[in-house]
Amino acid sequence: MNDLKDAIRQYALQLGADLVGFSGIDRFDANHPRQHPASIYPDARTVIGLGFRVLRGSFRGIEEGSTFYQYYTTGVETLEEVVMPEKLLALAGLIEDFGYEAVIQKRIQTVMPGRDQTNPETEDSKITKGVEQELQLDFTEAAICTGLGEVGLSGAVLSDDFGPFQRFAFILTNAELEPDPVVIPHLCDRCGLCLLACPGQAFAETPVERVYGGQASQVHPLDSWQCAVYYKGGNRSTNPFMPADALDDVPNREEILAGIRKLSAQEAQAILPRLGFYPPGRHGLTASICGRACDRACYAHLEEKGLLKRRFSEPFRKHAPWRIETEGEARR
Ligand code: SF4
Ligand code: SF4
Repeated sequence: MNDLKDAIRQYALQLGADLVGFSGIDRFDANHPRQHPASIYPDARTVIGLGFRVLRGSFRGIEEGSTFYQYYTTGVETLEEVVMPEKLLALAGLIEDFGYEAVIQKRIQTVMPGRDQTNPETEDSKITKGVEQELQLDFTEAAICTGLGEVGLSGAVLSDDFGPFQRFAFILTNAELEPDPVVIPHLCDRCGLCLLACPGQAFAETPVERVYGGQASQVHPLDSWQCAVYYKGGNRSTNPFMPADALDDVPNREEILAGIRKLSAQEAQAILPRLGFYPPGRHGLTASICGRACDRACYAHLEEKGLLKRRFSEPFRKHAPWRIETEGEARR
């Protein structure tokens, strides 16, 4: 079976996956049957984790305040809807050539696990309402179990190669393959820069304990409605496309545009259709105006500490994050 595992790893890398890991299903939390591999595929014996880097250059435009198109297209849409499905199908085909079944787990972006939830990466209007998502792995749990990284304070999965800059997909198979070790956390120092960087204060003030792959981590839960508003550009100091009269009839407008109002799900839902300042992507994807400031802050921090394996000729962050002081005026 080690030959099969080696063949899968080599082919995945050859196809263009950047991270590959393996886990038995015993590492997954049996108390959450809706996301357990055995609920999805009763014969599953192994979960194969695949990580695909989000290019550092995909964030460059938003990091500089120059262009916003590249992150949500090349960093989200092209990866999730073009690159990753193709690689997953090819790798699943190899597994089935060996006589084992391969069940793909690609992120479902338009149906949520709960009826009252949203997904900041997808236009809320494109999310199917009143329907609960079918069974699906918890991608954070699966990434940790397959040894691809550790959980940071923001809940992002951090890898030695790319920090928080990667996306994940998985394959369940009935082949029994030797698991890789779970990563012992060593990157996140709980600096809190990820939480501070959010233009909408979308993380809970108090951390909670999350256990993935038998490892306990402290995580500040993300309010997905709050994140959705500010991912889409709700804070005027980090949105160069916002007109001066944006949300002019909305109660608590000033607090909302300053990113300091805690929005209810209903308030967020009412505001979201009015935050269309930048063209959405295809597949219902939202244009990201925050450019994942939380992850960019984390990446810059990990790089500054010399913790990332992949080295670049120049640092990612070369100046303090920009913000708009007055309409159209950017400060560095
Ligand atoms: S920014 Fe700091 S606290 Fe947040 S995930 Fe990264 S290392 Fe951890
Ligand atoms: S920085 Fe952006 S992606 Fe991160 S939590 Fe805030 S709004 Fe969401």
